[in-house]
Amino acid sequence: MKKIKDNTSIINYNFHHIDISKCRCCKEFSCEEVCFRGVYNVINKEIFPNCVVILEREDFCVKCHLCTTACKKKAIFID
Ligand code: SF4
Ligand code: SF4
Repeated sequence: MKKIKDNTSIINYNFHHIDISKCRCCKEFSCEEVCFRGVYNVINKEIFPNCVVILEREDFCVKCHLCTTACKKKAIFID
């Protein structure tokens, strides 16, 4: 597993890890678009976009990696 736990810009969920510093300049929000299990919600899109994993939906993830591929900023890590 990547050593990402100590980086304060990484938000750690059960097995998703989002580097929200990379979301700040995102204009595509492709994580939200591509995830057919509805795991993500990008909040604050107009000012400082911030990808959030919806806690009650995280376990719906099937680890297809469409999101990690679609996010051009490589902000998403999945264990
Ligand atoms: S996770 Fe990727 S696609 Fe989603 S808001 Fe952040 S930078 Fe954009
Ligand atoms: S791996 Fe697939 S199911 Fe899991 S969050 Fe990403 S797009 Fe959604």
